[in-house]
Amino acid sequence: MSLGSPPPAVATAVSDDSVTDGLENQSSSENVRVKLKLEDLNWDHSFVRELPSDPRTDIISREVLHACYSKVSPSAEVENPQLVVWSESVADILDLDSKEFERPDFPFLFSGASSLKGGYLSLRLSYAQCYGGHQFGMWAGQLGDGRAITLGELLNSKSQRWELQLKGAGKTPYSRFADGLAVLRSSIREFLCSEAMHSLGIPTSRALSLVTTGKFVSRDMFYDGNPKDEPGAIVCRVAPSFLRFGSFQIHALRGKEDLGIVRTLADYTIKHHFPRIENMSKSDGLSFSTGEGNNAVVDLTSNKYAAWLVEVAERTASLIARWQGVGFTHGVLNTDNMSILGLTIDYGPFGFLDAFDPSFTPNTTDIPGRRYCFANQPDIGSWNIGQFASALSTAQLINKEEFNYAMERYGTKLMDDYQAIMTKKVGLLKYNKELIGELLNNMAVDKVDYTNFFRLLSNIRTDSNVPDEELLVPLKAALLDIGRERREAWTSWVKRYRAELSAIGVPDEERKASMNSVNPKYILRNYLCQSAIDMAEQGDFREVRRLLKVMERPYDEQPGMERYARLPPAWAYRPGVCMLSCSS
Ligand code: AMP
Ligand code: MG
Repeated sequence: MSLGSPPPAVATAVSDDSVTDGLENQSSSENVRVKLKLEDLNWDHSFVRELPSDPRTDIISREVLHACYSKVSPSAEVENPQLVVWSESVADILDLDSKEFERPDFPFLFSGASSLKGGYLSLRLSYAQCYGGHQFGMWAGQLGDGRAITLGELLNSKSQRWELQLKGAGKTPYSRFADGLAVLRSSIREFLCSEAMHSLGIPTSRALSLVTTGKFVSRDMFYDGNPKDEPGAIVCRVAPSFLRFGSFQIHALRGKEDLGIVRTLADYTIKHHFPRIENMSKSDGLSFSTGEGNNAVVDLTSNKYAAWLVEVAERTASLIARWQGVGFTHGVLNTDNMSILGLTIDYGPFGFLDAFDPSFTPNTTDIPGRRYCFANQPDIGSWNIGQFASALSTAQLINKEEFNYAMERYGTKLMDDYQAIMTKKVGLLKYNKELIGELLNNMAVDKVDYTNFFRLLSNIRTDSNVPDEELLVPLKAALLDIGRERREAWTSWVKRYRAELSAIGVPDEERKASMNSVNPKYILRNYLCQSAIDMAEQGDFREVRRLLKVMERPYDEQPGMERYARLPPAWAYRPGVCMLSCSS
């Protein structure tokens, strides 16, 4: 498995009572949670072992041809690094004993300043990935991991593969003119948001730990010629793989010589990350009608690359539909930031909607064209899938019909999932285009808070005896400062909504519980992040840790934590808080 011999599995097996309770039929082995020390984790290095490597090992910025990665070791300087925050649930999926976070050497290990003595994590095998990308619609050529260094892959006791990456760990051949480092501000945002998204039930990369480097990093946050020294930090982020659309595009767009690498990388990806496709057989019935003459049918089982493309398209569509459901705006949907696994990755100037505004973009660089604004995300996903499909087509892995079918599947899946999510958000059983369309229109007109509104909506009663003038009472906290005309518009909407609910006949309490399970009470609003960042920059990490705890249960009421559900205060409406640059 690993390049060296596998480590001895010195695991502490712990019986998990919460899992055992009431599940008499489960085999006892399923109830055992493995808790390993760092030294005993089961590292593997399939990426390095199976894919073409850059023969050079220096970190001079350069074009790296005919390779998927360059070997590089972490080189960020550290001085008295501190553990800011960590995720116990990520430790769980890695089989890591959470006591390991208390080790005095943990901040050194997870800043890359030292490697595991006697362990099997060899920095000799750490690497930066080569990828390209379309940035704001233009092909930007080679980008690559300019500051993220992959330590390797961990195989857990369930044979799941988890790639661990240190972001901000120093220069790589892909750093171009930049320093390979990351600041505390953006690292806190990435750590908290990836964990918050996971708890919202949205596919995402995860974060194991965040450490300060103890060194300062210069950043011009507003791009106005006034750089500032900021504390440096390193996040250990975790995903089954950090492969992106751009990982495939770079080789397709470099011309003939690299086309073979597209196939090699596709084979690798399917083998390790899409086992259903690797093992698919004719009996799976993956065929589709092309709609062209004589009921032409293309059999997806005859081309695994086409089946894979369709799955990537569907996962991406499903991901973006979920973003729309919680009001998440990524902010930089370049093809290098699009995960091949359909995960949310590369958290930069993201933002959750506060007041509903379809044209909201959290990214200052995006303001002129609003290419990556909230309402555009579904179309951008399609555009990006189109670029990825083109790369496969250039490498002759798929044909025109397969290309078209994948694009069609993206559109259908996005619509299906989006409609299902919105239907659940309003507590209906069937999508009602008119009612939901009018609701979103009303919300945009009155700049209604996207999160709090849906949470309050579950308090509407189907009781038809409620007089008209009291219909809006449950929504009062979300419908602030609206005049008579708007009150009438809302009252008319609520009346129609109530009639729909009555027709369904689901008891109010049951509907409320179901709505609250998809409408979060707590989202990671940018101002909440900023308060935690301000304290952390003064060396006080308590607010970061508190915020993590709150965001781990976004759908629960959490009495006493209501302040984390409040609208942004006046101070938050300034650049750097509600709007961010890519400077990180
Ligand atoms: P992003 O906007 O974070 O997705 O980054 C776009 C590209 O710039 C990627 O190739 C990153 O690795 C690279 N990059 C961003 N910041 C830095 C940095 N401070 N040092 C080196 N490379 C960076
Ligand atoms: Mg990126």
